[in-house]
Amino acid sequence: MTIREALREGWSALTGSDTETPQLDTSLLLSHACGISREKLYMDLPEELDEKRLELFRANMKRRISGEPVAWIIGNKEFWGLDFKVGPGVLCPRPDSEILIESALEIMGKKKSGSLHDCCTGPGTLALTLASERPSWDISASDISVQAADFFKANNQKLTGSRVRYTHSDLMNGINETFDVIVSNPPYLTPVEMGDKVALGWKEPGLALDGGGIDGLNLIRRLIPRISDHLNSRAAVLIEADPLQMPIIKQILSDAGFVRITFRQDLAGRNRIVIAFKE
Ligand code: GLN
Repeated sequence: MTIREALREGWSALTGSDTETPQLDTSLLLSHACGISREKLYMDLPEELDEKRLELFRANMKRRISGEPVAWIIGNKEFWGLDFKVGPGVLCPRPDSEILIESALEIMGKKKSGSLHDCCTGPGTLALTLASERPSWDISASDISVQAADFFKANNQKLTGSRVRYTHSDLMNGINETFDVIVSNPPYLTPVEMGDKVALGWKEPGLALDGGGIDGLNLIRRLIPRISDHLNSRAAVLIEADPLQMPIIKQILSDAGFVRITFRQDLAGRNRIVIAFKE
């Protein structure tokens, strides 16, 4: 079978599955199986595939069709120009979160030092990206997921030389310090959205995605008062959530005494990040 034929086989096998990008997914999995870049793959279209590579490609296509993200199968996901190790059990970094990084960097400004905590860090997406941008800041992270911790540790070593402190924790439990900035991409999907993803075969963990409650906001309702207890005065919190949830989150923040509450938009122009300050 040639590379061209394998690509065609993959595209048609993926059509009708949960992916919106069957061609991209197939070419990523085939270039991974061949150990070459996607550019080289397209230059080599008429080449024959050897049996071993074809077998690996087909096995990985089966994983993709069953709902595993491409990033889990190839073992990494690019975010903010950094390579994050990911795999079964952990939420993959998403482009939506890059706007949170931009906003956090703006707030951290040119200050030489300060303290920042990433609550619900998963594979370390926010904490490690911010640590790589602001090496002199004191940065820490926490997550409840035992599986995510292994990915966090590997990424922390690779991206920061294990400079970021880590606590295995449910929200801010067991953390006794206060911070200048807290960032969070908590689970915020509603049960209906989560059910739709599961029905499509999604394998990413509910623990990282399902916000609980009819509106997906149960966890954020628990999180905000705890964040408040862990912020210095005039400190900032930045939370990612669904655009439709933003008005309610603004109210929860304001009830908890936060001020200067503003939103930042994602690439589609929808409010994706909320920023608020402690008095
Ligand atoms: N935006 C993510 C998704 O739709 C959800 C991420 C999250 O719950 N933190 O898959």
